Amino acid sequence: MRIGLTGGIGSGKSTAAAMLQSLGWRCVDTDAIARRLTQPDGPAMAAIASRFGQHLIAPDGGLDRVAMRKRVFEDPQAKAQLEGILHPLIVEVALRQAADAPAVVFDVPLLTESHHWRARVERVLVIDCAEEVQVSRVAQRPGWSAEQARSVIATQATRTQRRQVADAVIDNSQLTIAELNASLRGLSRHWRGPVEESSA
Ligand code: ATP
Repeated sequence: MRIGLTGGIGSGKSTAAAMLQSLGWRCVDTDAIARRLTQPDGPAMAAIASRFGQHLIAPDGGLDRVAMRKRVFEDPQAKAQLEGILHPLIVEVALRQAADAPAVVFDVPLLTESHHWRARVERVLVIDCAEEVQVSRVAQRPGWSAEQARSVIATQATRTQRRQVADAVIDNSQLTIAELNASLRGLSRHWRGPVEESSA
Protein backbone atom coordinates (compact mmCIF):
# COMPACT_ATOMS: atom_id res chain seq x y z
CA MET A 1 0.00 0.00 0.00
CA ARG A 2 1.37 3.38 -1.00
CA ILE A 3 -0.15 6.58 0.24
CA GLY A 4 0.58 10.20 -0.49
CA LEU A 5 0.41 12.49 2.55
CA THR A 6 -0.10 16.17 1.94
CA GLY A 7 -1.29 19.39 3.54
CA GLY A 8 -0.42 23.07 3.75
CA ILE A 9 2.50 24.58 5.61
CA GLY A 10 2.29 23.88 9.34
CA SER A 11 -0.77 21.65 8.94
CA GLY A 12 0.91 18.74 10.74
CA LYS A 13 2.25 16.59 7.87
CA SER A 14 5.62 15.84 9.49
CA THR A 15 3.91 15.10 12.79
CA ALA A 16 1.50 12.71 11.02
CA ALA A 17 4.33 11.11 9.04
CA ALA A 18 6.30 10.41 12.23
CA MET A 19 3.20 8.85 13.81
CA LEU A 20 2.60 6.64 10.77
CA GLN A 21 6.24 5.62 10.87
CA SER A 22 5.82 4.41 14.42
CA LEU A 23 2.76 2.46 13.24
CA GLY A 24 5.01 0.55 10.84
CA TRP A 25 4.80 2.60 7.65
CA ARG A 26 7.98 3.50 5.85
CA CYS A 27 8.01 7.29 5.47
CA VAL A 28 9.68 8.96 2.51
CA ASP A 29 10.24 12.71 2.98
CA THR A 30 10.25 14.28 -0.48
CA ASP A 31 11.31 17.70 0.88
CA ALA A 32 14.45 16.14 2.33
CA ILE A 33 15.11 14.49 -1.05
CA ALA A 34 14.73 17.86 -2.82
CA ARG A 35 17.22 19.43 -0.41
CA ARG A 36 19.78 16.68 -1.03
CA LEU A 37 19.35 16.92 -4.80
CA THR A 38 20.12 20.65 -4.66
CA GLN A 39 22.95 20.71 -2.15
CA PRO A 40 26.50 21.40 -3.42
CA ASP A 41 27.36 18.60 -5.89
CA GLY A 42 23.76 17.38 -5.63
CA PRO A 43 22.52 15.35 -8.62
CA ALA A 44 20.21 18.17 -9.83
CA MET A 45 22.79 20.96 -9.79
CA ALA A 46 24.37 20.31 -13.21
CA ALA A 47 20.98 20.49 -14.95
CA ILE A 48 19.99 23.61 -12.98
CA ALA A 49 23.28 25.35 -13.85
CA SER A 50 22.96 24.44 -17.50
CA ARG A 51 19.38 25.74 -17.70
CA PHE A 52 19.66 28.86 -15.49
CA GLY A 53 23.37 29.70 -15.61
CA GLN A 54 25.05 30.79 -12.39
CA HIS A 55 22.12 33.00 -11.30
CA LEU A 56 20.58 30.38 -9.07
CA ILE A 57 23.82 28.89 -7.73
CA ALA A 58 25.07 29.89 -4.27
CA PRO A 59 28.81 30.42 -3.65
CA ASP A 60 29.06 26.92 -2.14
CA GLY A 61 27.73 25.37 -5.37
CA GLY A 62 24.29 24.47 -4.00
CA LEU A 63 20.96 25.98 -5.01
CA ASP A 64 20.57 29.62 -3.93
CA ARG A 65 17.12 29.19 -2.38
CA VAL A 66 16.43 32.91 -1.91
CA ALA A 67 17.28 33.68 -5.57
CA MET A 68 15.31 30.65 -6.71
CA ARG A 69 12.17 31.64 -4.76
CA LYS A 70 12.35 35.16 -6.19
CA ARG A 71 12.82 33.86 -9.73
CA VAL A 72 9.97 31.33 -9.66
CA PHE A 73 7.67 33.87 -8.02
CA GLU A 74 8.29 36.32 -10.87
CA ASP A 75 8.50 33.88 -13.76
CA PRO A 76 6.03 30.97 -14.06
CA GLN A 77 8.00 29.51 -16.95
CA ALA A 78 11.14 29.30 -14.80
CA LYS A 79 9.06 27.62 -12.09
CA ALA A 80 7.84 25.01 -14.60
CA GLN A 81 11.38 24.45 -15.85
CA LEU A 82 12.81 24.03 -12.38
CA GLU A 83 10.02 21.62 -11.47
CA GLY A 84 10.64 19.78 -14.73
CA ILE A 85 14.21 19.16 -13.57
CA LEU A 86 13.48 18.39 -9.92
CA HIS A 87 10.21 16.48 -9.84
CA PRO A 88 11.22 13.45 -11.95
CA LEU A 89 14.43 13.14 -9.91
CA ILE A 90 12.51 13.39 -6.62
CA VAL A 91 10.09 10.69 -7.78
CA GLU A 92 12.96 8.43 -8.86
CA VAL A 93 14.80 8.73 -5.53
CA ALA A 94 11.58 8.43 -3.51
CA LEU A 95 10.51 5.24 -5.31
CA ARG A 96 13.96 3.77 -4.70
CA GLN A 97 13.64 4.57 -0.97
CA ALA A 98 10.21 2.90 -0.95
CA ALA A 99 11.32 -0.28 -2.69
CA ASP A 100 10.36 -3.53 -0.94
CA ALA A 101 8.34 -1.88 1.84
CA PRO A 102 4.77 -3.21 2.11
CA ALA A 103 3.40 0.08 3.42
CA VAL A 104 4.83 3.42 2.37
CA VAL A 105 3.88 7.02 3.09
CA PHE A 106 5.22 9.62 0.68
CA ASP A 107 5.20 13.00 2.41
CA VAL A 108 4.61 15.34 -0.55
CA PRO A 109 3.81 18.96 0.34
CA LEU A 110 2.92 19.81 -3.29
CA LEU A 111 0.97 16.66 -4.14
CA THR A 112 -2.18 18.61 -5.02
CA GLU A 113 -0.25 20.93 -7.32
CA SER A 114 1.85 18.25 -9.04
CA HIS A 115 0.65 15.57 -11.43
CA HIS A 116 3.77 13.48 -10.78
CA TRP A 117 2.44 11.78 -7.66
CA ARG A 118 -1.24 11.01 -8.05
CA ALA A 119 -0.79 7.99 -10.31
CA ARG A 120 1.93 6.58 -8.07
CA VAL A 121 -0.07 6.34 -4.87
CA GLU A 122 -3.15 4.28 -4.12
CA ARG A 123 -4.58 6.70 -1.56
CA VAL A 124 -4.17 10.38 -0.76
CA LEU A 125 -4.34 11.48 2.87
CA VAL A 126 -4.81 15.20 3.46
CA ILE A 127 -3.94 16.77 6.80
CA ASP A 128 -6.34 19.67 6.75
CA CYS A 129 -5.99 22.66 9.03
CA ALA A 130 -7.68 26.01 9.59
CA GLU A 131 -5.52 28.80 8.23
CA GLU A 132 -5.27 30.69 11.52
CA VAL A 133 -4.03 27.53 13.26
CA GLN A 134 -1.41 27.03 10.52
CA VAL A 135 -0.32 30.65 10.94
CA SER A 136 -0.02 30.42 14.71
CA ARG A 137 1.97 27.15 14.54
CA VAL A 138 4.35 28.41 11.84
CA ALA A 139 4.83 31.81 13.52
CA GLN A 140 6.26 29.98 16.55
CA ARG A 141 9.20 28.77 14.46
CA PRO A 142 12.40 30.82 14.78
CA GLY A 143 12.65 33.41 12.00
CA TRP A 144 8.98 33.21 10.98
CA SER A 145 6.30 35.88 11.32
CA ALA A 146 2.54 35.45 10.97
CA GLU A 147 2.72 37.60 7.83
CA GLN A 148 5.31 35.33 6.21
CA ALA A 149 3.23 32.29 7.05
CA ARG A 150 0.17 33.89 5.43
CA SER A 151 2.12 34.75 2.28
CA VAL A 152 3.27 31.13 1.89
CA ILE A 153 -0.28 29.86 2.45
CA ALA A 154 -1.46 32.23 -0.31
CA THR A 155 0.87 30.53 -2.84
CA GLN A 156 -0.22 26.99 -1.92
CA ALA A 157 -3.23 24.95 -3.00
CA THR A 158 -6.43 25.86 -1.16
CA ARG A 159 -8.09 23.61 1.42
CA THR A 160 -10.86 22.92 -1.08
CA GLN A 161 -8.40 21.93 -3.81
CA ARG A 162 -6.66 19.52 -1.43
CA ARG A 163 -9.92 17.96 -0.30
CA GLN A 164 -10.82 17.35 -3.94
CA VAL A 165 -7.85 15.00 -4.41
CA ALA A 166 -8.19 13.31 -0.99
CA ASP A 167 -9.31 9.78 -0.21
CA ALA A 168 -9.20 10.67 3.49
CA VAL A 169 -9.06 14.00 5.30
CA ILE A 170 -8.02 14.56 8.91
CA ASP A 171 -8.88 18.01 10.20
CA ASN A 172 -5.95 18.75 12.50
CA SER A 173 -7.21 22.21 13.54
CA GLN A 174 -8.52 21.22 16.94
CA LEU A 175 -7.16 17.75 17.61
CA THR A 176 -4.77 17.09 20.44
CA ILE A 177 -1.61 15.20 19.53
CA ALA A 178 -3.16 12.08 21.10
CA GLU A 179 -6.33 12.49 19.03
CA LEU A 180 -4.31 12.93 15.82
CA ASN A 181 -2.44 9.75 16.67
CA ALA A 182 -5.68 7.88 17.30
CA SER A 183 -7.15 9.05 13.96
CA LEU A 184 -4.06 7.88 12.13
CA ARG A 185 -4.08 4.55 13.93
CA GLY A 186 -7.69 4.01 12.83
CA LEU A 187 -6.92 4.96 9.24
CA SER A 188 -3.80 2.79 9.19
CA ARG A 189 -5.81 -0.24 10.32
CA HIS A 190 -8.53 0.53 7.81
CA TRP A 191 -6.11 0.75 4.89
CA ARG A 192 -3.62 -1.87 5.93
CA GLY A 193 -5.26 -4.13 8.47
CA PRO A 194 -3.83 -4.71 11.96
CA VAL A 195 -0.24 -5.62 11.10
CA GLU A 196 2.95 -6.02 13.04
CA GLU A 197 4.57 -2.63 13.63
CA SER A 198 7.97 -3.81 12.45
CA SER A 199 6.87 -5.14 9.05
CA ALA A 200 7.64 -1.99 7.02
P1 ATP B 1 5.76 22.17 7.02
O1 ATP B 1 4.84 22.21 5.85
O2 ATP B 1 6.27 23.51 7.35
O3 ATP B 1 6.82 21.12 6.93
P2 ATP B 1 4.09 20.40 8.57
O4 ATP B 1 2.80 20.33 7.85
O5 ATP B 1 5.02 19.24 8.44
O6 ATP B 1 4.84 21.76 8.30
P3 ATP B 1 4.38 19.99 11.42
O7 ATP B 1 5.80 20.43 11.48
O8 ATP B 1 4.07 18.53 11.54
O9 ATP B 1 3.69 20.59 10.10
O10 ATP B 1 3.49 20.73 12.50
C1 ATP B 1 3.61 22.13 12.70
C2 ATP B 1 3.67 22.42 14.21
O11 ATP B 1 2.40 22.13 14.78
C3 ATP B 1 4.67 21.53 14.94
O12 ATP B 1 5.25 22.31 15.96
C4 ATP B 1 3.81 20.43 15.55
O13 ATP B 1 4.37 19.91 16.74
C5 ATP B 1 2.52 21.17 15.81
N1 ATP B 1 1.34 20.30 15.75
C6 ATP B 1 0.96 19.49 14.73
N2 ATP B 1 -0.20 18.88 15.00
C7 ATP B 1 -0.57 19.30 16.24
C8 ATP B 1 -1.69 19.03 17.10
N3 ATP B 1 -2.68 18.20 16.73
N4 ATP B 1 -1.73 19.64 18.29
C9 ATP B 1 -0.75 20.50 18.66
N5 ATP B 1 0.33 20.81 17.91
C10 ATP B 1 0.42 20.22 16.71
